[in-house]
Amino acid sequence: MGDSSFRVMVIGGGIGGLCLAQGLKKAGVSVSLFERDQAPTSRLQGYRIHVSPAGASSLRECLPENLWTAFEASCGRAPHSFRFLTHRMQELLRVATPGDAPGGRHYSASRARLRQVLLEGLDGILHFDRAFSRYEEEPDGPIHVFFDDGQTDVGDVLVGADGGKSRVRSQLLPGAQRVDTGIRAIGGKVILTDEVRSKLPPALLEGPALVRAPGGRAMFLAVQEIGDPEGSVPAAGAALRFEDESNYLMWALSARDNRSGFPSTNGEMSDEELQAFTLRACSGWHPGFSAMIQSSDPASLSVITVRTSVPVSPWPTGRVTLIGDAIHSMTPYRGIGGNVALRDAALLSRKLAAAHRGEIPLSLAIRDYESAMLDYGFRAVRSSLRAAEQAHSPGALAFHIGNLAFRALNAIPPLKASILRRGDAD
Ligand SMILES: Cc1cc2nc3c(=O)[nH]c(=O)nc-3n(C[C@H](O)[C@H](O)[C@H](O)COP(=O)(O)OP(=O)(O)OC[C@H]3O[C@@H](n4cnc5c(N)ncnc54)[C@H](O)[C@@H]3O)c2cc1C
Repeated sequence: MGDSSFRVMVIGGGIGGLCLAQGLKKAGVSVSLFERDQAPTSRLQGYRIHVSPAGASSLRECLPENLWTAFEASCGRAPHSFRFLTHRMQELLRVATPGDAPGGRHYSASRARLRQVLLEGLDGILHFDRAFSRYEEEPDGPIHVFFDDGQTDVGDVLVGADGGKSRVRSQLLPGAQRVDTGIRAIGGKVILTDEVRSKLPPALLEGPALVRAPGGRAMFLAVQEIGDPEGSVPAAGAALRFEDESNYLMWALSARDNRSGFPSTNGEMSDEELQAFTLRACSGWHPGFSAMIQSSDPASLSVITVRTSVPVSPWPTGRVTLIGDAIHSMTPYRGIGGNVALRDAALLSRKLAAAHRGEIPLSLAIRDYESAMLDYGFRAVRSSLRAAEQAHSPGALAFHIGNLAFRALNAIPPLKASILRRGDAD
């Protein structure tokens, strides 16, 4: 095989895999993507995702210009700030996220719409209903992949983009671990009709926030306003027509303590029981939170077990590699896992494109990617685990000291600015 004529096989059509396929297609590299879902609409992928300036620049690098424009047009009102609140709805800290930050813009993206953008133009590349089972490598020869339904395929490079439970990782790095943090969350969604808005306090409708509560509890809040007049980019010029989507407020209540009684899987409680449990878990909080939980559609509630990967040491580079959650899955507490997956996709497609043009050997392209990715990927894992731990103060003393620290930070503008810069670096 000459370095410049190789075929890449990507397993998993999530954010990372799709972005990689787009980037490789744009660079003229031969690529096939295999996704286990039966069709693009098999699963509702409906909640919001924060795309940071770094994530956005990776996405832009991989997409053709018309799809980038469509992505921008698909986003909701960009957040102006991130806030930390108490369970009594007092503001502890507000960090501005200016629309035109020096490193680029923050986007409030709809997962369903981002996915619609990423799926566009991949006819002949993307194959649904192909659940990867295992691979076999011939020494210095092709890689064969086997699917659950007995089908096979063959190529020269294999990329596992198959998420936290990656089968590609299990085979490549059997010792790599993904562990339960002990944090359980219950997430839900409130459709923002005029009537619902009138029942909720403005602080809940303002934008993303993390609520710190006693008893090792926390709540994440985010508002998705599609088509708001303040929206970042007008829809004109968009290449895609998006389904109408309601404006909504999403929330996720979480607890660190295994004895908190939080369910550990969906199905342990009915939707209505889950809603009643969440209301009880927030008793003593500002009544606006109860109004928000009561206004949520019970069917939107789900249980999330928060897991994190354990950093792995570099392995001898071969022609099988990993991107996104398949290698460095992390807690959602900094909202960066998807952004790091986008960064992986852009970096790997840049390196593979250089090998395709004959500028560097293929083995060096993959090694360069892996050594950079392991560094920034596991830095992000550690930082999101720290954020998860900080969000759930174990005792009353730690909770009050944490609140004091946030208030002090709020009073010192240079410290606040450094938090913003750190967030943009991911
Ligand atoms: C509640 C929550 C909120 C979050 N918020 C944010 C946020 O605001 N910003 C952010 O950056 N990140 C956020 N994240 C993290 C983000 O969702 C993930 O990091 C991101 O989805 C990872 O993308 P991925 O492509 O690596 O994996 P995934 O999105 O998990 O995609 C993996 C794909 O592989 C497919 N697959 C799996 N197994 C196989 C197989 N055997 N064969 C074929 N296909 C297979 C799956 O069907 C799926 O389509 C959040 C996560 C959670 C849980």
